[in-house]
Amino acid sequence: MAKVNIPSFKLNNGLEIPAVGYGTWLGLDEKMEFKIQDASKLVEALSYAIDIGYRHIDTAHLYRVEPEIGQVVKKKIAEGVVKREELFITTKVWQHYHREADVEISVRASLKRLDMDYVDLVLIHWPMSISQDGVDEKIDYLETYRGLEAVLKKGLTKAIGVSNFNLEQMKRLLANCNVVPATNQIEVNLNLGQKELVEYCQSKGVLVVGFTTFGSMVPSRATPDSPEPKIDNLTMVTIAKKYGKAVTQVALRYLYQRGIATIPKSLSKNRVLENASIFDFELDKEDIAQIAKFDNGYRTDIPSFWQDYSNYPFEKIANPMQGIPLSLREWKNGANLDID
Ligand code: NDP
Repeated sequence: MAKVNIPSFKLNNGLEIPAVGYGTWLGLDEKMEFKIQDASKLVEALSYAIDIGYRHIDTAHLYRVEPEIGQVVKKKIAEGVVKREELFITTKVWQHYHREADVEISVRASLKRLDMDYVDLVLIHWPMSISQDGVDEKIDYLETYRGLEAVLKKGLTKAIGVSNFNLEQMKRLLANCNVVPATNQIEVNLNLGQKELVEYCQSKGVLVVGFTTFGSMVPSRATPDSPEPKIDNLTMVTIAKKYGKAVTQVALRYLYQRGIATIPKSLSKNRVLENASIFDFELDKEDIAQIAKFDNGYRTDIPSFWQDYSNYPFEKIANPMQGIPLSLREWKNGANLDID
């Protein structure tokens, strides 16, 4: 069986986090409904990922697959493929649980679904606090973060951090926290370089973990009006050919060379292998300069239905989607509909 050898970044508390992890958000379909039918494919792809050497798994309460992940991990430990302490598992607290005391409830529920004693990292998924009914609860994310600090103290997680925090929110958090967040997980890709935010986080010892790192490049995400580079972009194809790699591998390698960890999601074994096979080449300065030109601030993930809520982190758009999809407010867990 093929194997990958994934190096790690060091977090500000000394823990090591593998530079490429496995993303587990299955996404929503055109009707904004959760793609539950993919849960069994995820189990297979994640099992394969662990077999070939992935050691970092990114999940969240929202993703409904914590039970499946727990089962795969348990099986791989029982088979002797991996030890729990060799894995780095991240989960996230959803917007309904932003009161200080609710954070622990959320983390304990994640641990129960994962069937684990601890996770390695817990993040505030988004800075907004929104109830299941879609009410803006206006809870300060500093309060939520205090809840995370308490959970860290109790040993339920080895590190804490945030996700989708913008520059102002990061500055305010860092000025008011006791434990510097280990990571900020944000969208970053060739179109959305996030230079200022990334440099700020890195200057403060906060590791940036990138999501949607292919942006709109891959066929499953490209739209008629999404910008270059698409997967067949000539500049990117030329660079990729030079190193004997795929355009997607160049995209992930570029982020790695910027000091950014990535968590690409794939249900295809070939792509799971390909996405982690980026540590045997190095982009040169000229190629880096060429690739940097694609940064035009274009965001792929725009949850505009949240844009009028307090602490929404991105610029507002002119014609936002109306109404938060029910699938982002109420759910049961993955294939295990009886849990939660
Ligand atoms: P990705 O950029 O990882 O793209 C995933 C898509 O690309 C899927 O359609 C996948 O299809 C396809 N794909 C994967 N690898 C390749 C490849 N080598 N070549 C061509 N196509 C490929 O986006 P995501 O939005 O899924 O983000 C990754 C992870 O980040 C999520 O799973 C989740 O864990 C996390 N995330 C966090 C967010 C947050 O708010 N904190 C928000 C969004 C994501 P296929 O499965 O068929 O291969």
